[in-house]
Amino acid sequence: MIIRNVRILGGEPVDIRVADGEIAEIGPGLEGPETVDGGGAIALPGLVDLHTHLREPGREDAETVQTGTQSAARGGYTAVHAMANTSPVADTAGVVEQVWRLGREFAHCDVHPVGAVTVGLEGRQLAELGAMADSAARVRVFSDDGKCVDDAVLMRRALEYVKAFDGVIAQHAQEPRLTAGAQMNEGVISGRLGLTGWPAVAEEAIIARDCLLAAHVGSRLHICHVSTAGSVEIIRWAKSKGWNVTCEVTPHHLLLTDDLVEDSPVGAYNPIYKVNPPLRTRADVEALRAALADGTIDIVATDHAPHPVEDKETEWSAAAMGMVGLETALSVVQEAMVETGLLDWAGVAQRMSVVPARIGRLGGQGQPLEVGAPANITLYDPSARTEVDPSAFASKSRNTPYEGMTLPGRVVATFLRGRATVLEGKLV
Ligand SMILES: [Zn+2]
Repeated sequence: MIIRNVRILGGEPVDIRVADGEIAEIGPGLEGPETVDGGGAIALPGLVDLHTHLREPGREDAETVQTGTQSAARGGYTAVHAMANTSPVADTAGVVEQVWRLGREFAHCDVHPVGAVTVGLEGRQLAELGAMADSAARVRVFSDDGKCVDDAVLMRRALEYVKAFDGVIAQHAQEPRLTAGAQMNEGVISGRLGLTGWPAVAEEAIIARDCLLAAHVGSRLHICHVSTAGSVEIIRWAKSKGWNVTCEVTPHHLLLTDDLVEDSPVGAYNPIYKVNPPLRTRADVEALRAALADGTIDIVATDHAPHPVEDKETEWSAAAMGMVGLETALSVVQEAMVETGLLDWAGVAQRMSVVPARIGRLGGQGQPLEVGAPANITLYDPSARTEVDPSAFASKSRNTPYEGMTLPGRVVATFLRGRATVLEGKLV
């Protein structure tokens, strides 16, 4: 098959020949019996998400492995890491193998289960990390995401344990006692609205502690969804020491701010903006963008968090926290980082494919588009303008904060090892 007229990382137009799931040839004027017209789209290595909630097993009303990976493919992803806060929790070899098998059977992209750090995400006893690493799912990323591993001794043990198989602990940094009952970012607006505040220090204190712990035991640490300017400063300091710390930012924390809770196109107190960690201030957003540009923040991860309507369309304090994100991630990153001149397409490829695959230790993903590489390819038209229409999502859930907004760009096609999962913007 020939994919014609694409611009790798935004470069000169070329054709790509795909054979046996790999890139066999790159050059102008390639001929073949079967061709796909790229129409001058940008070609990126297939995107890799380090932080996806697929909800299966247990909450198939919100998402399944099938619909979640369809959503991923439509967003240009060829691999996702499935978070462990399912029901049952993915804290044993049996459950991670179940998710891994569902991925092999039904998925529209590769599915890599994340293992829980503690049994039942309860923060009391380490889960069977070694058994999950040795299982068919070959788990390398462990996280209690949704909850923080707040016990310093357990966190230290987990960091020590995963060194044996080059694993990484991905921490959801939220000091639980500082955020008891918290509803939104602690600041001027939470004060005015009378909602319990979620202080930046609750995130920053855990990040500081865990950077020190990771350095102390010489292990790999990854910080999920960094959301404050102070967190960026701590991670910048840890990296300056040469410590093995990586971190992610979500698309929504690069674009949206806490004042939307008070005043937005969809009214005040709209739980569509309720998310963990909460939307922060304009100054935080600026710091996150600068940190993603200069490499202090390593990657963009979606924290795709599907919820059914009844869990979101309720009063603010009762609503579930989270937003879907897979199908809008690349457009939001274009809006926040590319249109602002902070990143070029090579920079986007690093932060949304190459580096997340490296952190997750995925061999066949996140490789530059070169001859011999697996043909995991995303074709993207940055000149398109699309009004976000949740009813068109492949995700089972519709809880997007971008409904009705016009965002730049459109995923034209996605190829997983040479097989199209999306063509002309539609699932294959
Ligand atoms: Zn989280």
